[in-house]
Amino acid sequence: MREGPRLIVLGRQGAGKGTQCAMLAERLGVPHLSTGDLLRAETKAGTPLGRTAARYMDAGSLVPDDLVIDLVASRLGARDARARGYLLDGFPRTLHQGQALFEVLGADAADVAVEIDVPVEVALPRLAARRVCESCDVMASGDPTANGAARCHRCGGALVRRHDDNEDAIARRLAVFDEQSGPLLRWLAGEGLLVTVDGSGQPEEVHKRVMAGLRGRLPRALVDGDATAGGSR
Ligand code: AMP
Repeated sequence: MREGPRLIVLGRQGAGKGTQCAMLAERLGVPHLSTGDLLRAETKAGTPLGRTAARYMDAGSLVPDDLVIDLVASRLGARDARARGYLLDGFPRTLHQGQALFEVLGADAADVAVEIDVPVEVALPRLAARRVCESCDVMASGDPTANGAARCHRCGGALVRRHDDNEDAIARRLAVFDEQSGPLLRWLAGEGLLVTVDGSGQPEEVHKRVMAGLRGRLPRALVDGDATAGGSR
């Protein structure tokens, strides 16, 4: 029996990557691993890695490759983590990270890399409007304060602007994506792993496009059916 599916999801900030990853992880029944979340957890816990990472994150820069690669390798090195499959959200982000992933985990480190593509004009207002829960870090999409729902839907915590969602850091992160992730995307395309999906519109529409893009890349029962039943609908 083949091990669980291994996916990479990429996209500039504001593409809806986090939302799509949560939907996909649930649909496919695979663990969702977000390097942004892992780094924020380290920062919250005040670890040495968290303190170093915070300096880069607050400025909208990438955390150095070696730190992020070690963090991911320690999570994915465990055999059970690999056996269940994984959905990597926000990693790799540079060509070096992408190549390191395959060096550490082998040639089948990823079955497919999905790029959620939105133009900067669509990403910018989404980033300016997004809020996260202060207590459990869950992301609220759109502008929840605009329609009166100013509390987290999961735990009732206060919704706040993410620490690094200020104008300077947003502009920097968008520029960094083009610079750093361009070579990575070209490399993934050359390896035959890249599927690019239009990320504009509502999350459900984008999710349908993502699932259509996965057809032929993942086992059919997983894409067309219920992951838990393993059958087709
Ligand atoms: P995200 O939650 O994916 O938007 O990531 C937030 C911030 O965490 C980024 O702006 C980076 O500073 C840092 N970060 C997350 N993933 C990576 C990565 N793979 N490489 C370097 N920095 C990262």
